[in-house]
Amino acid sequence: MTLQIVWFKRDLRLTDHPALSLAAARGPVLGLAVFEPSLWAQPDASGRHAAFYRDCLRELMASARAINLPILALTAEMPDALEQLRVRLGDFCLNSHQETGNWASFMRDRAVGAWCRAQGVRWIETPQDGVVRVLTSRDDWSRIHDSRMSGALLDPPAVTPLPESVRRVVSPLMSVQIDQAIEPWQALGQTDCCPGRQPGGRSQGLALLDSFFKGRGASYRFHMSSPGTAEQSCSRLSPHLAWGSLSVREVLHAVWRTRSRWQTEHGHPAQRSMLASLKSFESRLHWRCHFMQKLESEPEIELRCLHPATRGLRNEGAFTVEEAARFDAWREGRTGFPFVDACMRYLAHTGWINFRMRAMLTSFASQHLWLHWKRTGEHLARLYTDYEPGIHWPQVQMQSGTTGINTIRIYNPEKQRQDQDPDGAFVSRWVPDYGGVAYPAPIVDHLAAARAARDRLWSLRGDQASKAAAQQIFQKHGSRNPAREGAPRSRRRASQSTQQGFDF
Ligand SMILES: Cc1cc2nc3c(=O)[nH]c(=O)nc-3n(C[C@H](O)[C@H](O)[C@H](O)COP(=O)(O)OP(=O)(O)OC[C@H]3O[C@@H](n4cnc5c(N)ncnc54)[C@H](O)[C@@H]3O)c2cc1C
Repeated sequence: MTLQIVWFKRDLRLTDHPALSLAAARGPVLGLAVFEPSLWAQPDASGRHAAFYRDCLRELMASARAINLPILALTAEMPDALEQLRVRLGDFCLNSHQETGNWASFMRDRAVGAWCRAQGVRWIETPQDGVVRVLTSRDDWSRIHDSRMSGALLDPPAVTPLPESVRRVVSPLMSVQIDQAIEPWQALGQTDCCPGRQPGGRSQGLALLDSFFKGRGASYRFHMSSPGTAEQSCSRLSPHLAWGSLSVREVLHAVWRTRSRWQTEHGHPAQRSMLASLKSFESRLHWRCHFMQKLESEPEIELRCLHPATRGLRNEGAFTVEEAARFDAWREGRTGFPFVDACMRYLAHTGWINFRMRAMLTSFASQHLWLHWKRTGEHLARLYTDYEPGIHWPQVQMQSGTTGINTIRIYNPEKQRQDQDPDGAFVSRWVPDYGGVAYPAPIVDHLAAARAARDRLWSLRGDQASKAAAQQIFQKHGSRNPAREGAPRSRRRASQSTQQGFDF
């Protein structure tokens, strides 16, 4: 039987791992995790990602030992790692999940594909979520997504032991410790491990799932918008989904099980709020795949504005001195807008912030400071422990007004402060210098800046070429159910109208 190599990417689990289950049915399996220096040197990579990944990998390797699955951790560029293995082990079949990653991982996958073709190695890539490779029509997407999600969950498979000849070659390589392998990342300057971040590892993800469904989730719908309450009431599962210590399908199945339990809890005081929260939460899991599908269908979303009319609107080259000063103030949390600064400092410290505040931070940088979203998006990507390119870049573009199919939203930083931090507790905690002489004055007149941004974006609508381009973008990427695009209720009517034209 041919040796099966399972390449663990951002899918660091054994449960509900279709690529592993299929490989185990075909022959003896060797797991492989590769630390690729060129990927970790990208401007969207950070030490906190590496640290979370390391936590997950460490736990994965321990659980894999329990099912006799050896996992080899190597530091190399992926085609070089494969070549080393081919020379030492001879023939094998490569198995992995289809990955919707950043541009660098997309190019890496192309290089791996070319290597496999040149060496006659079979590479089987299996879907693991609702994202569809080579989707021919967006109209079919929901149906395919739903049928995949309703499939049965996969237990960790029984694994055929490696033949002695393979074990002899692999054993000396297995002695490399994860921490040794991680050193090259630190040499790349990825030293920001973010001590305040969520710890990684599947057991941590399962504990969050449990506490969310047993109680925290009841207030989810009401508490998700304020950063002070969201920390407790949101699921906090995002880094586990991003690095794959949990599969989106197993989380969705947990929602369905929890719902049927709560449906029988007649008269329980939390029944209504829990059922409503489960509905909102389920929608977000759906959005997850919906957004990732956009990057899967068009990887260039990470690199350039989706709507052609918005290209060149903001400076796409190196920052001017003035722009660099605005960027530094934003990223260091000293814009003079205490709520924006509190959110940025909180995010830098914890590696996480809730959806609304992510949208506000992006909107503030793109609209009020008129900075190009690529640089600011990279900075946020580094700060989010849960960085998921397929959610991140389409969201960054959506909040920057460059998609052409979403209603433009400019968050007023002072209104957000009043709405989401009415007693000022969040600002006091994260910006203790606010009110002191050293705290900066606001770096922009936020009302004038928002008006100018809105006028510039509005000036793009109307002409026929823009409308036609928006129509094409909608055909390729638009949600066929606008309630699922992530737009607030009041804006859904507007986002429905995107089918007719450029909807700024
Ligand atoms: C500019 C911007 C950038 C973002 N970048 C990322 C990112 O890199 N990684 C990431 O996981 N999320 C990103 N989000 C979406 C969202 O803010 C986070 O998923 C959420 O805050 C994570 O916390 P949670 O797991 O407690 O979420 P919950 O509210 O508990 O949601 C559960 C899961 O649903 C998915 N989800 C939730 N909201 C959205 C959404 N609006 N769009 C798509 N999927 C969603 C996530 O996988 C999340 O873990 C971004 C949002 C914005 C506005």
